[in-house]
Amino acid sequence: MSDYKSGTKCIQSGYIPENGELRTLPIYQGTTYKYNSGDHLASLFNLENAGHMYTRISNPTVAFVEDKINDLEGGVGALCTSSGQAASLIAVLNITSSGQNIVCLSNLYGGTTNLFSVTFKKMGIEARFVNPSMSDEEIGSYFDEHTRLVFAETIANPSLDVLDIGRFSKIAHSHSVPLFVDNTFATPILCRPIEHGADIIIHSSSKYMDGHATVIGGVIIDGGKFDWAQSGKYPEFTNSDPSYHGVKYSEQFGSAAFIVKARVQLMRDLGSSPQPLSAFLLNLGLETLALRIIRHSENAYLVAKFLSEHEKVSWVTYPGLSSDKNYTLAQRYLLNGYSSGVVSFGVKGGKEVAMKCMDALRLAAIVVHVADARTSVLHPASTTHRQLTHEQLKDAGISEDFIRLSVGIEDISDILADLKQALDSL
Ligand SMILES: *Cc1c(COP(=O)(O)O)cnc(C)c1O
Repeated sequence: MSDYKSGTKCIQSGYIPENGELRTLPIYQGTTYKYNSGDHLASLFNLENAGHMYTRISNPTVAFVEDKINDLEGGVGALCTSSGQAASLIAVLNITSSGQNIVCLSNLYGGTTNLFSVTFKKMGIEARFVNPSMSDEEIGSYFDEHTRLVFAETIANPSLDVLDIGRFSKIAHSHSVPLFVDNTFATPILCRPIEHGADIIIHSSSKYMDGHATVIGGVIIDGGKFDWAQSGKYPEFTNSDPSYHGVKYSEQFGSAAFIVKARVQLMRDLGSSPQPLSAFLLNLGLETLALRIIRHSENAYLVAKFLSEHEKVSWVTYPGLSSDKNYTLAQRYLLNGYSSGVVSFGVKGGKEVAMKCMDALRLAAIVVHVADARTSVLHPASTTHRQLTHEQLKDAGISEDFIRLSVGIEDISDILADLKQALDSL
């Protein structure tokens, strides 16, 4: 890990050119690598030497971007995936199989909730949902000897609950399991969960990291602090892997056992790898991440303040507002309390008026996406979270009048004027 500040890492980490080499990240567009001897290639397949074998498993352009993100999060290794969903899938499957269970926060992103509660169920993995308002004791009652991990989001999408990372890391560790944190909304600029006790980080890089709504992607970062061998619960790290001639991940790869296994076993088998060109595009986004996320946060704060003072608005949630229930946690865990660009609010009159309000916006577009440079809006209950039951919606903190506003980096006066004309038209 370099000693540079995050803003410098965004630009300088990862690819470091040698004398006379290309100054910017080269695109290694290809599937295949060449070796001088069969023995050398055999040693790669035996995991005795590090090197690229096949782009499904690793690629130089992708590896440079992985190094940059790893450096930003302060981990021991990262693995880029074809989407955020693939990152969650691979991260959880790396230590969870049929007959086991995971403990998750109930306010997760709708896609993650579907993956965990429907698809994992078919695979024999049970997701047990807990609410942050429960006591430690009550949450503790959801664990048993088959529990493998705790999964939560730093800033939940879209309820915007801020995770008490220290508390949930203590709860997870007291049951000898790791804490997985989806850090998509906060980004490593606003929060580095590993420093607060999280073990494995995942991101949808399709959001602020890319930042321009151009490329789907995900990433897993290994904090390297969880001792898989010591805990005694994870034989997959201490026993031989028959698919690699008996390699023992903890013995051979030490603190990076988790991320090496995720790559050479699950990425090899599942194949949800990113394209080199996608990694290049993601890297362009990462170069300005530190600048953009501050501007998103500053704009969103002013939007939240404006909405909270508007007579047609019934409620506003934004962790950066001093009146917000998540304000204290935001101040504790997020850089200067900056809370990203997502604001949620309701309008007086419920769902019908909420839809009218969205239709009346001109600058802010109705899109499924969040967290990119352009201001956008969405009604989660009828779209991204439509598949959830009424009960799940309530648990995820989504009401019928809930509008999710993703505040972009346009000039704030134009964003405010657009909201004002839409609300005034109701
Ligand atoms: C979008 C999102 C995901 C899923 O990522 P994709 O890149 O769309 O697959 C996961 N977690 C959070 C918090 C998200 O916002």
